[in-house]
Amino acid sequence: MIASTPITIERTTTPKAKPPQDKLGFGIHFTDHMFIMNYSSEQGWHQARIVPYQPITLDPAAKVFHYGQTVFEGLKAYRTEDGRVQLFRPDMNMKRLIRSNDRMSIPPIPVELGIEAVKALTNIDQEWIPDGEGNSLYIRPFVIATEPLLGVHPSHEYQFIIIMSPVGAYYPEGINPVKIFVESRYVRAMIGGVGEAKTAGNYAAGLKAQEAANEKGYTQVLWLDGAEHKYIEEVGSMNVFFKIDGTVYTPSLNGSILDGITRNSTIQLLKHWNIPVEERVLSIEEIYEAGRNGKLEEAFGTGTAAVISPVGELNWLGEKLIINGGATGEVSEKLYTNLTGIQYGKQEDPFNWMVEVK
Ligand SMILES: *Cc1c(COP(=O)(O)O)cnc(C)c1O
Repeated sequence: MIASTPITIERTTTPKAKPPQDKLGFGIHFTDHMFIMNYSSEQGWHQARIVPYQPITLDPAAKVFHYGQTVFEGLKAYRTEDGRVQLFRPDMNMKRLIRSNDRMSIPPIPVELGIEAVKALTNIDQEWIPDGEGNSLYIRPFVIATEPLLGVHPSHEYQFIIIMSPVGAYYPEGINPVKIFVESRYVRAMIGGVGEAKTAGNYAAGLKAQEAANEKGYTQVLWLDGAEHKYIEEVGSMNVFFKIDGTVYTPSLNGSILDGITRNSTIQLLKHWNIPVEERVLSIEEIYEAGRNGKLEEAFGTGTAAVISPVGELNWLGEKLIINGGATGEVSEKLYTNLTGIQYGKQEDPFNWMVEVK
């Protein structure tokens, strides 16, 4: 069923060769088709269409280039062992897209229409969903402001586009703890800013710190709050959890933290298993304190790309903290096994998270 505007389909006449399934990487290869829909103040969202994957042409004055009025989403389609194709909680992505749009003064895209577009595109390119342990199809919906006017005002014209990329397992040899640099100079977001929106500028603003951390041998940056550099926000493009003395903690959503769908699912699973979990303000000092006292049992990041990413080491102002001897913790492992088990249809889906594409 199609929500409000019919999706027209133009199939490619020149399908591309598919990449080797054991060397997919992340966001390198793209499928044969893409979805596009236009917005104008007069017509609203209109002309929903699936077309062959192709470059887009924009006026150089398009507002997105100058003022960054743009938002994006990220979700995955999985192929199950018995050949079904399923999406993980696509409604959550489309609801978050509406919130990001709202923060960036972009008109909302109806949730049902967004889900329908993702399903239709996944369906047409389903041969692109790779087989093989940990492989999946990454789906990237995004919105750009296209009106060619340099005045600083919300655009009157937009395009909503969806592209898809077959991706490999984030950790080909299974999950592996990463080293994280606690950033004390640069900040990612502030209360009142756009940290809770999935918008381009947040990522551009983080590149400098990420580059510096990479040079020092760290995979990602742990962001502290913008005002005092004391409180934990998130890790790169993942939310972050700490297990201290039997309880799992994660920073509460304060407006500058991205409301991750893997974060939300992790909290639900922990509650389902009766593992104590708490959302609250967490200072870096108390994490180090717990670490020094031997009470910090595990740390892990959550996000669509890696699902669960254990943290083996932190470096804060030169002080290194090794977590769980640098090994993957029990709860991290259990979350990874269960979340991926649900996503690949290997085990029961107690919350009806998976949505089949037919
Ligand atoms: C996308 C993202 C996350 C994780 O969100 P998921 O919905 O779990 O993929 C966390 N932090 C940031 C900054 C993000 O962009």
